[in-house]
Amino acid sequence: MTWCRVLCLTVLGSPFVVLLAQSNERPGDDQSVRVLLVTAHPDDDAAFAATVYRITHHLGGIVDLALVTDGSGGFRYATLAEPIYNIELTNEAVAREYLPAIRKRELMAGGAIVGIRNYFFLDQLDGGYTLDADTVLGAVWDTASVRERLSQIMTRGSYDVVVGLLPFEQTHGHHKSATIMALHATQSLAPARRPIVLGGFVCPLDRAEEMRFEGLAGYPLTLVASGRPLARFDRTRKFGYNDRLDYRIVVNWVIAEHKSQGTMQLLMNRGEVECFWYFDANGEAGKEWVVELFDRLRD
Ligand SMILES: [Zn+2]
Repeated sequence: MTWCRVLCLTVLGSPFVVLLAQSNERPGDDQSVRVLLVTAHPDDDAAFAATVYRITHHLGGIVDLALVTDGSGGFRYATLAEPIYNIELTNEAVAREYLPAIRKRELMAGGAIVGIRNYFFLDQLDGGYTLDADTVLGAVWDTASVRERLSQIMTRGSYDVVVGLLPFEQTHGHHKSATIMALHATQSLAPARRPIVLGGFVCPLDRAEEMRFEGLAGYPLTLVASGRPLARFDRTRKFGYNDRLDYRIVVNWVIAEHKSQGTMQLLMNRGEVECFWYFDANGEAGKEWVVELFDRLRD
């Protein structure tokens, strides 16, 4: 498929410059989709697990993951993991030393289930819990280094799509910040090489049509004027013998690999639909391609 992309060079509030880029080959008959997940914590990708599984197993796509923090802050709910790893993981000092390696292994075990290919570890401090992205970006992470590294990863990987967690007001400041950094990194690339950035969130099945996100205050790159998710993948979609299987099984397998994060079984698989918002900063022209991609995931 040949895909022509109209690229918006500036964010809202600045003069709006539009260029028509050269036609790019996008995923279709002759090429697989290439996706980069950008997440803050080693278990955040569970929010997209069913979509990732379909991309790799149904479309033959490539999915890589860039993990921004070292995961060392995940000690509060590690009680159940202490006898498994024989380490006092609820002790912060002990956890800060051992959790980064443990959680990378858990991440890659889950990634093997959904077909993640490569991992990039940025090892920023998983600390300073706050809802405030300004604090994370200004005082906890080395923001310039993260942006530079993500830009390099995106350039070398030639990704079509970057997926991060939706940066809504009530979510962890690290989640917001990782997605904001992904947006900034894409903007630093030449317009013709910018991947589309999507923000993902797991929606309840009975409210998937109603969910709204219009952007995070103070971060114009996160704006979504329509407020509506552009694409969805329903984990409850049935398949297999007598239609007895669905994609919640895959999500549960991924979550089960994160033994050090005891609350995930209760918190992370509450929704049934993986919803994706298309940031306005991507420009209008990529929307159709995203809709088509998710149509193909449901074929
Ligand atoms: Zn997280």
